[in-house]
Amino acid sequence: MASKAQSPAVLHFPEGIRYECQMDASCCRDTWEIRVESEAAERVLAVDWKSCSSLSAREDTPFRRPGRKARHLLFKRVGDACSFLDPESGGCRLHAKYGFEIKPHVCQRFPFRFVEAPDGVYVGFSFGCVSVLNEIGPPVAESREEAVWIYDHEPEHQQVRLPVRLDEKTPLTWEDYLALEGALDEILSRRDRPFAERLVAGHAWLGMLRRMLQVAAVETTPQPVSEVISFFVEKTRADGFERAFELAGKPVAHPVLKRMILGTFLSFRNSLRPRQWRLTTIGRIFVENIRHWARWGSLRMEPLDKRVPYRLFHPSNEALAAAETQVLLERYFRHGIFRKDLILHTDLFWGYCYFLLTYGMIQYYATGLEAIGEGNPALAVSLVEKYFVHHSNFNQTFLYHPAVGDTFQYLFKRPNFAHTIAMG
Ligand code: SF4
Repeated sequence: MASKAQSPAVLHFPEGIRYECQMDASCCRDTWEIRVESEAAERVLAVDWKSCSSLSAREDTPFRRPGRKARHLLFKRVGDACSFLDPESGGCRLHAKYGFEIKPHVCQRFPFRFVEAPDGVYVGFSFGCVSVLNEIGPPVAESREEAVWIYDHEPEHQQVRLPVRLDEKTPLTWEDYLALEGALDEILSRRDRPFAERLVAGHAWLGMLRRMLQVAAVETTPQPVSEVISFFVEKTRADGFERAFELAGKPVAHPVLKRMILGTFLSFRNSLRPRQWRLTTIGRIFVENIRHWARWGSLRMEPLDKRVPYRLFHPSNEALAAAETQVLLERYFRHGIFRKDLILHTDLFWGYCYFLLTYGMIQYYATGLEAIGEGNPALAVSLVEKYFVHHSNFNQTFLYHPAVGDTFQYLFKRPNFAHTIAMG
């Protein structure tokens, strides 16, 4: 859902996030498709854009359409980069010659993202940005002026879907949602436990709440949802969410199921190509699934150039065990809660399951990078952010795809699902 721009009354900035543009141009190359809104296209065409572009002099437009029916335009690339990127300085030549305001909105906004909620606007940041990822620069609250300018110039804003739901049956008031969000944030902050265990505990905790609400709904005098939530949050918080951590500590993971779930998830992502027949997509997923099941051949993990041989690919939490990686994961997922990733496209429970899949993908990418000699867990976080979360429509395609979404929803309800994804 989106709304027209207007100055926000309240801007919420996250804690623990730092940002200052490093001019390293990584956001103008690789995986990105630079969308150009029609006003920006007109601005660019009105200036001498050829003098800023690496396109050949014969090219008569800096734009391309991603498909015959597509309404939007993208900037053309030269190699893996936007044609306006200066390969030597790493800066934007369009910006250098004509100023910040000529650029399309997506370039102006990165790495900010605004989400409108009933109590104000949440200013989120992308972990695809090297500064945000590596904590370089001042705390983001110091970018307030820049944030307000960008927000004011954004043609449309994302909004949380109201009413927020715990699951398909249970609508929540905003206050109830914030109480649940706060408790999940506390669970993910428990540094006395490995990060994977905290994530699984969050899933177990939501499961406990759903069961309590089901019981409360069939009592002779059903209790209002808000009362049950407030009782549950208070009671579980009082003992440090002990029962949820106890459930998370049980060794019930299933490695083959994990390969099938994460393999299907990855195959689905790898198979989505513009202008591809549905049957081809299904065929690709099927073939890749057989590979995952049999550990046969090698694994494709876009956008990595090299395929990952299965004989070297043994995903486990070891790839994410270093102390600094645990801190990064905590920062990343807690920021995901802050920027409302859990409820932006779906209900809270389903959104949390997508969190687990995101974690599974980070583990896969970290292990895959290690197997091809490019071990770097922070890069794994950044790639997953770009490919599966913040900059991708994949999460929406996945969450709403009738066949895939339903199958995964069914799997997510299995009690060992979270262990299988995060601990197996
Ligand atoms: S227009 Fe400039 S800022 Fe935008 S992607 Fe191209 S080089 Fe980067």
